[in-house]
Amino acid sequence: MDPYLLQGAKRKMIETLRNKGITDENVLSALEKTDRHLFVESYLWNRAYDDVPLPIQCAQTISQPSTVAFQTQLLSVNKSCKVLEIGTGSGYQAAVLGAMGAKVFSVERHVELFVRTKEILQKIDPKIILKCGDGFAGLPVFAPFDRIIVTCGAPNVPPALLSQLAPGGIMVIPVGLGTQVMKRITKSMDGVVTEETFGDFVFVPMLENKSKRT
Ligand code: SAH
Repeated sequence: MDPYLLQGAKRKMIETLRNKGITDENVLSALEKTDRHLFVESYLWNRAYDDVPLPIQCAQTISQPSTVAFQTQLLSVNKSCKVLEIGTGSGYQAAVLGAMGAKVFSVERHVELFVRTKEILQKIDPKIILKCGDGFAGLPVFAPFDRIIVTCGAPNVPPALLSQLAPGGIMVIPVGLGTQVMKRITKSMDGVVTEETFGDFVFVPMLENKSKRT
């Protein structure tokens, strides 16, 4: 992509995010640093910095920048955070978290998408650890996590994810069938769980069955 066009498109995207209420400068600068066009097919590059979801492989979508920014802002990530993402998809959200300095683990159920995204992220941020598997199970081997972000619409808060959230941790998860309510779940240092809600969103569904082979 032409560097001048890229810079202009990114500047416009950041302005849109500010207008939509994103105030965390660390989040804004992570989105500015991350080249969203690298996560979509080249025929979509002219729309890569518009605030819209775009199609990716396996009939999935890359979330719109304002949703990525909103979830990331709710997550309050800092450099010392170990973060688990459920629903790697294109890898864009994982790369944004990586750009914030977090140690990122991400799980995707689609083998085909997993293989492709692994190849892309290897070049962009090889520190990100990607696993193919069922997000409902989390990643017990690497638990606990300071932060957990779910980027598909969950039917409920998976108990395994809650148990893999560290004391003092935060989980951001859209919950619901069809339309989801964005929830921020906080676990206190002594294990007490509290929940807040942040409006309606529409994500592709978090699917119950195990990792998909086609
Ligand atoms: N964070 C992604 C958004 C991808 S869409 C991005 O930045 O592009 C949500 C993803 O969740 C899809 O790729 C879908 O295959 C995946 N998904 C759905 N159910 C899942 C499950 N049970 N475990 C892991 N991934 C799942």
